[in-house]
Amino acid sequence: MSERPAHHGPDGRFRIPWPLEVPDQTRNGGVLRWQRERLSTPRPPNPRPEQLPPGTPDVAHPRAAADDVRITWIGHATFLIQLGGLNLLTDPHFSRRASPLRWMGPSRFVPPAIALDALPPIDAVLLSHDHYDHLDAPTVRRLHRAYGDELAWIAPLGHAAWLAGMGIRANVHDVDWWDTVELRGAAGPVTVTCAPAQHWTRRTMREFNNRLWGSFAIRGGNRCLYFGGDSGYFRGYEEIGARLGPFDAVMMPIGAYDPRWFMAPAHMNPEEAVRAYREMGGRGAFIPMHWGTFRLTDEDPLEPPVRLRKAWADEHLPGDDLHVLRHGDTVRLAHGPRAPSK
Ligand code: ZN
Ligand code: ZN
Repeated sequence: MSERPAHHGPDGRFRIPWPLEVPDQTRNGGVLRWQRERLSTPRPPNPRPEQLPPGTPDVAHPRAAADDVRITWIGHATFLIQLGGLNLLTDPHFSRRASPLRWMGPSRFVPPAIALDALPPIDAVLLSHDHYDHLDAPTVRRLHRAYGDELAWIAPLGHAAWLAGMGIRANVHDVDWWDTVELRGAAGPVTVTCAPAQHWTRRTMREFNNRLWGSFAIRGGNRCLYFGGDSGYFRGYEEIGARLGPFDAVMMPIGAYDPRWFMAPAHMNPEEAVRAYREMGGRGAFIPMHWGTFRLTDEDPLEPPVRLRKAWADEHLPGDDLHVLRHGDTVRLAHGPRAPSK
């Protein structure tokens, strides 16, 4: 009998296989306590659009050269990654709300920095998990309509069944942690490896953790990137860096962290994101995400980058490696051979 991995529960659901540093309160009346606290505590206001000015995309059309890496922040956890001559999208979300409903739920502070129709042709979509701010059914439908079976879908275990329900059955890769998918790049393979994260999944009240969640390492054209998905801080980043790094750029979530007693198991704060970066090797571009787009939690929506800059300086990390992007900005990695690792 083959041994079941620790993150596969005996009931067929997935689970976090290591002890949590802050206990999970979701099943202890925590949701109600959070909602009650929110009623009595004034929350900082939502930002006005002019407080989130648009950036300047530097997207290659239709594709970048095999050794040219460009990472463009569309908003929230959506990046256009141009690497190895391919165009990849992470957690594509191009709708107004992160919600199952069209008229209710968190709506954007600013529109997606580039419209879906204005993007270069997409070769693969990487989905980190099923939450509404990451997996948006209308966007999935539009992508499938535009590219059909040509488009590759890579997502943690359980998402293939959901995609099949959307009529997407070809070119779907349902991956467990540490599984690798190989895509055909312009000058050799581009590989996408699913890695652990500390999170959970649910789209309807009946579901809980029946789909896995994850992060991704993306390797091609002599470069390696890390997309952190949605995660609380956990003691696994050293292993991710050792097995899949060193990374030339990491995209890390820095928002949706307050109140800590409730959010810490599922969402890291900026200080923890910097700690994770250091534990993964502490090198390469740091590109924050999961802030400034949807209001999901209680912190001031403009606070995450302020705390990130401070944490970065407190750790004496090189200022050139921190890339706090405006929506639409592009980070372009320099050409040429990669700098020697650690
Ligand atoms: Zn999530
Ligand atoms: Zn999220």
